[in-house]
Amino acid sequence: MRRVLIIGAGMGGLAAALRLQQKGLQVTVLEKLPRPGGRSNVIEENGFRVDLGPTILVMKSTFDETYQAIGQDIDKRIAFTQLDPNYRIHYHDGTWIDLYSNMAKLAMEVEKVAPGMAERLFRFLGEGARKYEFGMDFVARNFDHITDLANPTAALRLLQTASYENLYQQVSTFFQGNDKLTKAFSFHSMFLGLSPFDALAMYSLITYADLARGMWYPMGGIYSIIEDMVSLAREMGVDLRMNMPVEEICIEQGRAVGVKLESGEILLADIIISNADLPYTYRKLIPARHRRHYPDRSLEKMHYACSGYLLYLGIDRKYPDMRHQALYFSEDYRANLDAIFKTKTLPKEPSFHLNNPTITDPGLAPEGHSLLYILAPMPNLSAKLGWDQAAPILREQLLGQLERIVDPDIRQHIVWEREYRPTDFEQDINAVLGTAFGSLAQGFFQSSYFRPHNKARDIKGLYFVGQGTYPGIGMPMVLISAQLVTERIVKECS
Ligand SMILES: Cc1cc2nc3c(=O)[nH]c(=O)nc-3n(C[C@H](O)[C@H](O)[C@H](O)COP(=O)(O)OP(=O)(O)OC[C@H]3O[C@@H](n4cnc5c(N)ncnc54)[C@H](O)[C@@H]3O)c2cc1C
Repeated sequence: MRRVLIIGAGMGGLAAALRLQQKGLQVTVLEKLPRPGGRSNVIEENGFRVDLGPTILVMKSTFDETYQAIGQDIDKRIAFTQLDPNYRIHYHDGTWIDLYSNMAKLAMEVEKVAPGMAERLFRFLGEGARKYEFGMDFVARNFDHITDLANPTAALRLLQTASYENLYQQVSTFFQGNDKLTKAFSFHSMFLGLSPFDALAMYSLITYADLARGMWYPMGGIYSIIEDMVSLAREMGVDLRMNMPVEEICIEQGRAVGVKLESGEILLADIIISNADLPYTYRKLIPARHRRHYPDRSLEKMHYACSGYLLYLGIDRKYPDMRHQALYFSEDYRANLDAIFKTKTLPKEPSFHLNNPTITDPGLAPEGHSLLYILAPMPNLSAKLGWDQAAPILREQLLGQLERIVDPDIRQHIVWEREYRPTDFEQDINAVLGTAFGSLAQGFFQSSYFRPHNKARDIKGLYFVGQGTYPGIGMPMVLISAQLVTERIVKECS
């Protein structure tokens, strides 16, 4: 039986383990941390249980399909509920709109902001559907040659939908320059670590997928999916080992033959898959003499995604009027994004994502309490901000905003608090430059064929899974990456 070693128990590593074990390979997963999950981890303390990273679950079909591939039905194991509205958007002037998946309600919200604009909303979503259809042709496939990009129908759609244009600019044109609606229907590129001012209009396919195909919440939080994947993996015979940081991938005569752990122990295998950040894997786990295609200088030139500052608050009161998911857009939204992506400075007035999962799932907090998760996108660690100074400033700014939009007395009601900084991403999971959502930004030249491939070019037997390879960042994408690497390994190694 072929032996597979997977470095890292992130969602992609776990999904690949399940699929490969199901195909008859003997899989061992080696995770650095005491707990699996990687970026999709959890904090459990003082009766609060909060997802550390992802909270927005779209493209649920990718989760369904992952389970179907191993003969399971995810809906029989985890209770999902659809969130509708998907988000409440708070603007700096105190106004807000709700973004619903229910199209009639969404149209009413849009009309509230700009009367007569509903017709344009439906045109925007129609174009989003076309982008989604052709975009998916480049998502769920392995790439070997640049000619794999040649697809005459997709090329035509690319032109018809002007997907090569600038995202913010194109959305603004759809909504006749209405600033509030443009922000509300373009921020989704941030999920890929891209500013809407820099991203391709193509990425409004995410807005379409989110609104038209729905957003879901698994009871117990996102981590309940990781827990379930772990128990399935154990039942299927996957050997999952925690507290096992890998120090080096052992390479003999151009082939990966095993790994050396930090403890000095060497484990041998026929196939090695890295779920750790791909640029980190190349730079830190593979000696330079074995990687002609990824020398340090080309890894340095890659375009790295942004990071984030997170604040988690346990509150001894309930906020029934809040939405489960919300976003706050700062007054100078553009300056905020430029600080993150261009000048790499601390944003003066951060925009942020505000999540209150206890609206849907009160069991995540003690009775009568709420749990708030606040995520403010930040520059990555190339910015050298000095996080011991920056974090208290940000905390103060975020609490000030919560006083405005949630509760003027919120500070007196905080009974539990934790934070997570860009430096924590680097230290805990070896995230290159402390990147949050994923390491490599998803610009055109780091997508599909141009993103690092899931098979090392100059090392036989070495593969990749997760956000660093194609299709890219986010839970649905890393689940697809597990499908793609499994298909490749089964084809090449059987
Ligand atoms: C704050 C935040 C919010 C997010 N929000 C969303 C969202 O709402 N929706 C969404 O879909 N996605 C979201 N994402 C993105 C999503 O979480 C990630 O893209 C996805 O979880 C990455 O999974 P992965 O399989 O690539 O592995 P990762 O999660 O990157 O895990 C890699 C694993 O490898 C381990 N590792 C590293 N080095 C070693 C080593 N040397 N030896 C052994 N193990 C090692 C790490 O400890 C880690 O467990 C968010 C991410 C963050 C951080």
